[in-house]
Amino acid sequence: MKRKDSVRYLKGIGEKRAELFQKLGVSTLEDLLYHLPRGYEDRTDVRDVSGLVEGESVCVRVSLAGGIRSFRARTGARVIQSTMTDGTGVMYVTWFNAPYVEKKLRNSDEFILFGKVSMRGRTPEMINPVMEGAERAGNITGKIIPIYPCTAGLNQRQIREAVQHALVSLTEPLPEILPEFVRNSYGLMALSEAMEQVHMPDSFASFEEARRRLAFEEFFVMQTGIALAGKERKKGSAIPFADVKCIKEFAEQLPFDLTHAQKRVINEISSDLLKDTPMNRLVQGDVGCGKTVVAAAVMFAAVQSGLQAAMMAPTEILAKQHYETLTRLFAPWNIRVVLLTGGQKAAEKKETLSALKDGSAHIVVGTHALITDKVEFFRLGLAITDEQHRFGVRQRTMLSEKSEKIHTLVMTATPIPRTLSLILYGDLDISLIDELPKGRKKIKTVAVDEEKREAVNQFLLSQIAEGRQVYFVCPLIEESEVIEANAEEEYLKTLKQGVLKHVTAAALHGRMKPSEKNVVMQQFLKGEIQALVSTTVIEVGVDVPNASVMVIENAERFGLSQLHQLRGRVGRGEWQSYCILFCASGGTFARQRMAVMCETDDGFKIAEKDLELRGPGEFLGTRQHGLPEMRIGDLMTDMHLLKEAQTAAAALLQEDAKLSAIAYQPLKAKVEESFAKLGGILN
Ligand code: ADP
Ligand code: MG
Repeated sequence: MKRKDSVRYLKGIGEKRAELFQKLGVSTLEDLLYHLPRGYEDRTDVRDVSGLVEGESVCVRVSLAGGIRSFRARTGARVIQSTMTDGTGVMYVTWFNAPYVEKKLRNSDEFILFGKVSMRGRTPEMINPVMEGAERAGNITGKIIPIYPCTAGLNQRQIREAVQHALVSLTEPLPEILPEFVRNSYGLMALSEAMEQVHMPDSFASFEEARRRLAFEEFFVMQTGIALAGKERKKGSAIPFADVKCIKEFAEQLPFDLTHAQKRVINEISSDLLKDTPMNRLVQGDVGCGKTVVAAAVMFAAVQSGLQAAMMAPTEILAKQHYETLTRLFAPWNIRVVLLTGGQKAAEKKETLSALKDGSAHIVVGTHALITDKVEFFRLGLAITDEQHRFGVRQRTMLSEKSEKIHTLVMTATPIPRTLSLILYGDLDISLIDELPKGRKKIKTVAVDEEKREAVNQFLLSQIAEGRQVYFVCPLIEESEVIEANAEEEYLKTLKQGVLKHVTAAALHGRMKPSEKNVVMQQFLKGEIQALVSTTVIEVGVDVPNASVMVIENAERFGLSQLHQLRGRVGRGEWQSYCILFCASGGTFARQRMAVMCETDDGFKIAEKDLELRGPGEFLGTRQHGLPEMRIGDLMTDMHLLKEAQTAAAALLQEDAKLSAIAYQPLKAKVEESFAKLGGILN
């Protein structure tokens, strides 16, 4: 069989089972082989019965020490009980509802058992262990057994068998992605060998080698992709700004003083803008630190220098909000700001497009529409991407490709550790806004359980009575948008029958049309709605200073950084603000995480904690940073390997910038495939 053949044609897999595999993202043999174990069971570890310790999963080699007892328990379960020994000690072995065992026990004298040890008094016991007659052991015991991610209806044994069949049925090798010189210089095994050793390791040492090879491959593909995406940006020149001193004039018109951090960052950006080498700068700053006005200041300089500026935001709501903020901020000058979103009416869009082309519009704010639609500029000099972690690697460079000579600024509130940012954004300069505007009161955060519901409700009503507004974030459901929307309606209904009975409330969710979302957001902004019930669509950027309370249901299910972003929707005005985390789980892990939220409001510290508690896989998920999902490589613990892969990728592109050599075609295809979901990376 060939690697692109459907698993449907593997021995033992019918249509039904093929569908189940589909659920795991597996449709071809190649997919199946890349469906890697999430762990292993060490069934090679044969222990003495006398030394067994409670809780360990180990093998023993034993024979029956007495008869077999078979009876029906009061619960109705069939129980088979035996006593076994290896000469060093005696143990109990018990099976529930396993009628086939009796025959097996009669057929051999000696057995290999693999199972978890429990203690009955001082005697060790295994319940429902895996068992083989010692003479034919090696199929299921005496080996390192892979444990795969599975799904309902598809068990470990079925996946294992499918993988075994795939390994032997494949008549053509998987294409080798790593160039030979790379494999040689980093001592990496061939792909076919790695595949075998990762699914059926001979030893833990050979598994480690296989894992190293596959992780390297993953990093190498990622780094090659990032380097290719970055290429466009690096070359060429940019139009130096004629005037940045004018920013002073802009700042004087603001209703507040800029913070020191804002001023410093504006200066850092300005000195880039005066040069004819393109700026590639990342502004990091916690939620609420005032990134928008920094962006506005430098866009002002663009306009005063006779250039246009574009700003891209990840959601329509945020784009609209920025559009309004900028229109307001630039009102004292003759600066025309326009909006471009997918949800706009055709006529409006047409008007915007022609104004950008003929130069009568100076600034455009928009969503993805800015890069997907045929937008042409008169003289674009500056591209800004807000909440850049919401965009794919490719998407964030596309805006900058709208003009040849352009400066690029990206902004984010999601901090990542320094070492990682060097690798992920190696060619970006970083500016930090590490100060919040004066007078911000710390958001009071509490984690509560259902018992406190009534007290919370009373508190919410008192805040609303004082004229404040509140957010409710729905219980998080990950399954599908439809379920999510239903769950949200249910939630709103419950609230309306209870605490929100006499309060005007509306809902906002991902499935609403942009225009519908806008209407709701506008009403909330104007104070016509007192409570906004929402899924996480409000997570990014929304700015309603009068809102003072955020209630988050099932808070334990969110990442800490995400909770921090959500919480950042309140505490934006002069009011004391509150964040109430309803937490259904009383487990230590959940408690620990909630405690972090209650104790600190420093986004960087929270991100670090989040990373520490959840591990980098989830923390740096695809969504966060627009990178292909890492299935094997660990962005934290494999840092060294990641660096090697980065060096190797750079060396390769030095030699063949477009990967045009025949030998590199499998790599090129893999890079394209990996980044495809993120909007593609190559032309
Ligand atoms: P973020 O960095 O999260 O994007 P925003 O740009 O939305 O934050 O700013 C949050 C709020 O703080 C806005 O209402 C903005 O007008 C206000 N703001 C920004 N800078 C200052 C400042 N220097 N002093 C007072 N308020 C400010
Ligand atoms: Mg913002």
